Amino acid sequence: AVPTAVMVSTGKGAELGVLIKGGEALQRAGDVSTVVLDKTGTVTEGRPTVTDVVPAAGTVHASAAGRDALLALVASLESSSEHPLADAIVRHAKDQGYAVRAPEAFESHTGRGATGVVDGTALAVGNERLMADWVINVAPLRADAERLAGEGKTPMYVAVDGALAGVIAVADPIKETSREAVRRLRALGLDVVMLTGDNRRTAEAVARAAGIDRVVAEVLPDGKVAEVRRLQEQGRVVAMVGDGINDAPALAQADVGMAVGSGTDVAAEAADVVLMRGDLAGVARAVELSRRTMRTMK
Ligand code: ADP
Ligand code: MG
Repeated sequence: AVPTAVMVSTGKGAELGVLIKGGEALQRAGDVSTVVLDKTGTVTEGRPTVTDVVPAAGTVHASAAGRDALLALVASLESSSEHPLADAIVRHAKDQGYAVRAPEAFESHTGRGATGVVDGTALAVGNERLMADWVINVAPLRADAERLAGEGKTPMYVAVDGALAGVIAVADPIKETSREAVRRLRALGLDVVMLTGDNRRTAEAVARAAGIDRVVAEVLPDGKVAEVRRLQEQGRVVAMVGDGINDAPALAQADVGMAVGSGTDVAAEAADVVLMRGDLAGVARAVELSRRTMRTMK
């Protein structure tokens, strides 16, 4: 039989928008020593918007018309991608009134970007790793990309027909509740780590804004599981908090997997706890609730 204290606590959690799936999950939450937070959609709003389009100097894209044409090309390619960054570019282009058309070819490169063909033009959009794969020299725009990343934005390089054409930056502000939630987690004596596929500079700027001092960035999707396992091997009891499909394996690996409610069903299914309000204060609530319940039962 489920002890009354557990039933009362899971009920109280649900009232607060923290769905704890059973007594075992409730019990484990109080033992957590490290909280790993995914960046996009967990610490941040997860609704990125385009802030900058910087064409490469001395190219056909450097004029106003060239820059607009570049944005329309990139948006057309990204219309085939499901990535939130792609979505931001498509929305931005449509808002500006550009025609977004379907690409003739499209390939997604996980943790790197996208490539394909639009109107007979070969395109690659993504991070430095993708550009390296395609032997594109990013040196002419690296300073711009680093400046944008230092502002917490995600810069994406664009290559057209094998040559560097520009950088597009997207910003995804932190949730207004994230900073206070992180403070609360630390007040509970927990280590807080942010984990992301995004580039290091961007991640560090975002972490700083949220009051997080440990960052693991440029992680490929299966790297998230490995990072959780590494912490567990160090004796940490790990809560992983994420929202995306790509977070599901890490949520399952963690001692306590927590899905933010606005996230995908896949993440919610893999999780032990669902934070219905999408607010990281729910992580602290789950830990507090667990500790109190376990004290009651002793
Ligand atoms: P996160 O962990 O923040 O969700 P991802 O692993 O999904 O990050 O992506 C890592 C990086 O790969 C992004 O920051 C971006 O630079 C690049 N990237 C991935 N998909 C795309 C895309 N469709 N268009 C442009 N860049 C992309
Ligand atoms: Mg994510």
